[in-house]
Amino acid sequence: MSKSQAQRLKQWDQEYIWHPFTQMKDWAAGEPLIIDSADGLYLKDIDGNVYMDGVSSLWVNVHGHRHPAIDAALKNQIDKLSHSTLLGLSNTPATELARRLIGIAPKGFKKVFYSDNGSTAVEIAIKMAYQYWQNTGHKKKTNLVHLNNSYHGDTLGSVSVGGIDLFHKVYHKLIFKTIGLKGHGWEAVDNLEKLLKARANSIAALVVEPLVQGAAGMLVWPDGALKKMRDLTRKYNVFLIVDEVATGFGRTGKMFACEHEGVSPDFLCLAKGITGGYLPLAATLTTQKVYDGFLFDYKEQKTFFHGHTYTGNSLACAAALANLDIFQKERTLAKLAPKIKFLGEKLKMLYNLRSVADVRQKGFMVGIELKGSLEDRIGAKVCERVRKYGVILRPLGNVIVLMPPLSISVEELDYLLMASYRAIEDYEKQ
Ligand SMILES: *Cc1c(COP(=O)(O)O)cnc(C)c1O
Repeated sequence: MSKSQAQRLKQWDQEYIWHPFTQMKDWAAGEPLIIDSADGLYLKDIDGNVYMDGVSSLWVNVHGHRHPAIDAALKNQIDKLSHSTLLGLSNTPATELARRLIGIAPKGFKKVFYSDNGSTAVEIAIKMAYQYWQNTGHKKKTNLVHLNNSYHGDTLGSVSVGGIDLFHKVYHKLIFKTIGLKGHGWEAVDNLEKLLKARANSIAALVVEPLVQGAAGMLVWPDGALKKMRDLTRKYNVFLIVDEVATGFGRTGKMFACEHEGVSPDFLCLAKGITGGYLPLAATLTTQKVYDGFLFDYKEQKTFFHGHTYTGNSLACAAALANLDIFQKERTLAKLAPKIKFLGEKLKMLYNLRSVADVRQKGFMVGIELKGSLEDRIGAKVCERVRKYGVILRPLGNVIVLMPPLSISVEELDYLLMASYRAIEDYEKQ
């Protein structure tokens, strides 16, 4: 691309795009980095600079960019059908994918409800859980319980079960009332038990991010806590909604985080990695029991009245099928195990840096927490500096996130860690 073309694009970006989760005053003062192409682990900008994609294009990419098998699946699908509707019709890839998802999900799941992003996947689970109890004569079971520091998306329903003040506080008069559990880890589990003992008959569901609370800054939960929450919700007849939007598709070292503790929830919410990072697609999986709670004569008005226009999009489902094929063909999870171990060993060196407060890891989800107040924007400053080393990262407040595609090699992983180390060191020196 010529210099003048690149310049024009940068102008247009600043003139026309309002970027998500971005203080646009800062954006306007900087120079936009515009990605034009990609290959494997690397992104290329319009000026020809190449960067390692250290956060998998916001936690979605699994096998690298332009993977030949997903590219081919999409090209093949585009010659047949790009989209038709699931309202009153079905389509081939959506049908095949539903069967595949049930095949790999924790046992007990029987049904797949499609949508197109993580927030809607969670909202659908919430509405289904709530309506199930309404449909089946438990009218008082209307409350939802969520964890402290939870994040389930940005639409108002998922914000209602969100617990991150920075993102959620301003909207508090717009959202519905929920119950936030106090504390973290076993303390939160104890609080859940007390709550359920006292008033489970008014509670529809507990919503959790399993094992790792991603957006909160990669907060890792103690082993066994998820299992205990499953046991408690089962005992007290409350649904468990597990939001695997971030943890699903290999991120924690297993296909789904639930597998680490042999947990089968009532709802499983999937998005981000489902298409290998190619196209927006989400799925809410549930059980026969929940499904049966909606089977009535139409005139009783107990249908699940919900659906998004692009539900079950054929191209997205074709990409998702190819994504799952690659997991099998390339033995992605088996190859991931030694890389997770390497990452764990290498991360220890970060404690040599005086500004590092804590390093958290679960599988291929890493949070490096830096000391200092949020106003100092330390995370953002370190991520600016890491670009000099040819790496793109996106922080969460003071937490530097490392979430590379699962396909990254050990050597590349080593480079990613070295670059992160140097960027923090550079920040300390200035
Ligand atoms: C990203 C994320 C969401 C929201 O997904 P969107 O596709 O951005 O709507 C929900 N839950 C978790 C755990 C997430 O990480």
